[in-house]
This record gives sequence, structure tokens and C-alpha cells, in this order.
Amino acid sequence: MKILVINTGSSSIKYELFDMEHHRVMASGMAEKIGEDTSLLTHKGISPNGDPVEKMEDAVIADHLEGMNRIVQLLVDPDLGPIQAKSEISAVGHRVVHGGEAFHSTTIIDKKVIAAIRKNIPLAPLHNPPNLVGIEITTTLFPDAPQVAVFDTAFHQTIPMKAFLYALPLELYREKKVRRYGFHGTSHAYVAERAADYLGQSLAELNLITIHLGNGASMAAIKRGKCVDTTMGMTPLEGLVMGSRSGDVDPAIPFFLSDQLGMSFKDIDGLLNKDSGLKGLCGTNDMREVLEKKDAGDDRARMALEVYCYRIKKYIGAYFAALESLDVMVFTAGIGENAPYIRELSCSGLNGLGIELDREQNHGVREGIKEISSPKSHVRVLVIPTNEELKIAQETKRVLQNILVK
Ligand code: AMP
Repeated sequence: MKILVINTGSSSIKYELFDMEHHRVMASGMAEKIGEDTSLLTHKGISPNGDPVEKMEDAVIADHLEGMNRIVQLLVDPDLGPIQAKSEISAVGHRVVHGGEAFHSTTIIDKKVIAAIRKNIPLAPLHNPPNLVGIEITTTLFPDAPQVAVFDTAFHQTIPMKAFLYALPLELYREKKVRRYGFHGTSHAYVAERAADYLGQSLAELNLITIHLGNGASMAAIKRGKCVDTTMGMTPLEGLVMGSRSGDVDPAIPFFLSDQLGMSFKDIDGLLNKDSGLKGLCGTNDMREVLEKKDAGDDRARMALEVYCYRIKKYIGAYFAALESLDVMVFTAGIGENAPYIRELSCSGLNGLGIELDREQNHGVREGIKEISSPKSHVRVLVIPTNEELKIAQETKRVLQNILVK
């Protein structure tokens, strides 16, 4: 079974082709800057005779359809492509950002599902429309392959009402579905399962806090395998400090900005989403640069890191309380996997909660899963590389097999 995973953004298409029988990636890449003067196409994979191939080219890609066509050409290219014909692809798995309350799990896409994703556009105006474009295109290009939607929000649909309701007039939830949804669900679910595998325990026996620290960042509290709380909210703006997003702020700050600085809604939206977070505090949203600046003695960078890690630490405490007991904590994504300083600062002083890192293990460089807690620590702390594309492929395979069994 070969599964193509697609993640369509407003000006990009990311793809990864999995050979599920042999557990290997056959190709991956991205069409970027679609619709701009010069687009960029990158492709990595295995050639028909099994050699590794890499290709990167500037191209003019007018729209997503052209981008997807170029990707398909690469996949079946007689010299570069890992497959000979489109028909070898058994199914296409799509990352869909917002499933709202309609989707609790992965689903085969049909007209009703498309209508439901469309209905959720007001909740994710930047993400769901390009996701729908991707679905439409691959439905045309692969008419015989089932199309499957894997939602960022689905894993968090088990969050109880006391954690997902905002204390706003209840009609806003009932009529407009204003509530916490949470995102990065595919990543939180993937690393939680990997943690259970690593510990040789069933996920249903474990209480976990998963900490996804990438450009976007979020945490999830997972009780006996089910998510019970998460830091992102109705949108991905709430919660942790991120690359350029503020995370939690006093909700009255926008009124202050409007009153005092005459800022419009659009200006404030831009400020909170694009000019805040690490970037707002110290001028760069790239954690590697922030750490370099801190090491060079830059005070703003040091302060930004303190704010960043304090927020994580505060949520660890909150989620400890939500879970009532904690077995495992997992760090993942670009920063979570690669920045020992951030893990150390976020966990400092948490001995009282039974969380204690081993300095050497935390700073050690190793591929794959790393255990960084000290032998004395009650809570086991792991670093687990996330793989959202693989999880989407696994989910796609799972729903197809369920249908075959039925
Ligand atoms: P992601 O969104 O998961 O790709 O993560 C992107 C973030 O990870 C950026 O802020 C990068 O600076 C950060 N990152 C990647 N590699 C490292 C590293 N070796 N040390 C610190 N941060 C890193």
C-alpha cells in the first residue's frame, strides 16, 4: 500500500509518499511560493533503480493545480520518480486544520465531509480553504484513490466541557461554536503513542503531558490516552509563547491598543500573530538565533527565553493539576527535540512535582527517542521526534482497513 500525504497551505503544497508495507518514505518535498513570480520546487526520494535523488528548482507555478501536477510528474518521472504510474497510489491522506466539533477522528472524504470542512472555514479562514483546494485537486488527479482527512483538532475532541468552554455568554458557544479546539493534535497523538511503545505500556494506562515546541507551540494533557486539555484555543494564538505569536495575553489588551494607538482589528491581528512571541520580545522568531544571541550576552534574548520557558513551566504545573498524577512528559518538534537549554529551564525547580532531569542525558546528542529524566525522577521525561506525515499515513491506512473489515 502506497499512501500520499498532502499538506496544502495558502501558497504551498508539502507532500510525502509512504510505502506502508516496507515502512519507508519513497519521496518527500514541497512546492512553495505558489502564485508568486518565482516558485520553488524541492523533491527528495528514491529513483526507479533505488538510488537517492534530490532536486531543487525555481519554477513558475501559477496555482495549486499546477503545483500538484508538477509533483505528480516528479513522482512518476522515469529517471527520478519512485513509482511508474499514479495508479500505484492507494490513497491520499490530507492534513486538515479545523474539523470543528464535527470530527472526532480521521475520516474518508465524501461530499458531506467537504461540506463540513467548508462550514468550519470561519474558524480557520487561513487554513481550511487551501486544505479544500488540495482535496479537490487530488480527487481529480487520483479519481480511484480514496481521499482521507486527518484533522489537527480531532485528537482534542475528548477535552471535557469544563476545559473547552470559555466563560463567555453561552449562546456564543451554542450558536457560533466559540470554544477551545486545540491544534497540533496529530503530533500530540503521535508522540504519546510512541512514548507508550517506548515504555512498553498501554497508552490507556498512562497520564502524559506532551510539549510540542516548533514555530507554533502547544501542550496537551493526556489522561489514560485521552486528551483532557490543551493550550491552543479556538485559534492557534492562545497558550504558549511562540515564534511570532503572543500566546496568552490579557483579552483587554486589544482594546487598549485600539484606544491608545488607534490600531485597527487587522493591525492588532497582525501584531499578535506575526510580530509578537520571541520575535516581539527579542527581534527574531528563530530559536537557534535567540539561543546564539543569549550565548553572546544579549539581554533581550535572555529575557525572551525566560518568558518562553516560564510559560511552559506554568502549564506543566496546571496540567499536573488537571491530570492529578503524571507518568510521562514528552518534548517534541524543532525546539523541543533540539534545545536542551529550553527543556532544562522549563523543568527547573519542578522536583516537588517529581520532575527531575539528568543534565548529561538532556545535553546528549542522540538520534531517535531520548530519555532525559534522572533515575530519581518520578515522572519519566522523553524527547521524541514528531512525525505528523507518518501519523497521517498511518491514520489513512487505519480507516481504509476498517472499511475493508466492515
Ligand atoms: P518546527 O516548526 O518544528 O520546524 O521548529 C522550528 C523551530 O525549531 C525554529 O524556531 C528553529 O529555530 C528551532 N530549531 C531547529 N533546530 C534547532 C536547534 N538545533 N536548536 C534550537 N532550536 C532549533
